[in-house]
Amino acid sequence: MKIIAIGRNYVDHIKELNNDVPDSPVIFNKPETAILKDNADFYLPGFSHDIHHELEIIVKISKIGKNIEEKFAHKYYDEIGLGIDFTARDLQSELKSKGLPWELAKGFDGSAPISKFIPKAGLDLQNLDFNLLLNDKTQQSGNTSLMIYSIDSIIAYVSKYFTLKVGDIIFTGTPKGVSKVNAGDRLEGFIGEHKLLDFYVK
Ligand code: MG
Repeated sequence: MKIIAIGRNYVDHIKELNNDVPDSPVIFNKPETAILKDNADFYLPGFSHDIHHELEIIVKISKIGKNIEEKFAHKYYDEIGLGIDFTARDLQSELKSKGLPWELAKGFDGSAPISKFIPKAGLDLQNLDFNLLLNDKTQQSGNTSLMIYSIDSIIAYVSKYFTLKVGDIIFTGTPKGVSKVNAGDRLEGFIGEHKLLDFYVK
C-alpha cells in the first residue's frame, strides 16, 4: 500500500506557515513504514527538534482506479478516519529553502499514525468537524467544508499520476493550529463526537 498526502489544503493553515495558496494540489508520499496503528506511542526522532502534529481526515481506497473522474470518485472509498501527518518542521524548512523534496521531513518512521476507519455512509463529508486535543486542550479544529480541494477532487487529481489500489490511504491536509509536540504529550483526535485517536509522544 501507499500513502498519498496533500499539503496546503486549508487556507488558514497556509497563512500560519506563510505559504502561498497553490494553483494545483501539493502532493507528497509517505512510505508504508511511516504508519503507526492502534494508538501506539510515537517516538520523537533524534534528527529534529521541532516535530509538529498535523491532524488530517484520511481516506482508505476500496477499489483500484486510474484516471478517476471526480464525479465517480466517491465509489472508490467507503471509509474515513483520522491521521497525524507528523512533520519535522525544522528539516522541512531547510529542504524548502533549498528547493528540495519534503520526504525526509514527512516520511520518516512513525510519521503517519492512523486511526481505525469508520464507514462514510451517513456522514456529511462536505461538512465534517474534526478536532485535536493536546494534553486535554483543543489545539486544532477543522471542518471539511474549508478544504480547498475536496476528497473527490484529490482522488481525481492524484489518480492521473498514481494508480490507486485497495488499501491505499490519502491524507487530506491539515487545518490551522499545528504545533510542536514534546515527550509526554497526549494527542486525542475526534471526528465529531467519535474519538478515534488517543496516543502519547515519547
Ligand atoms: Mg499535512
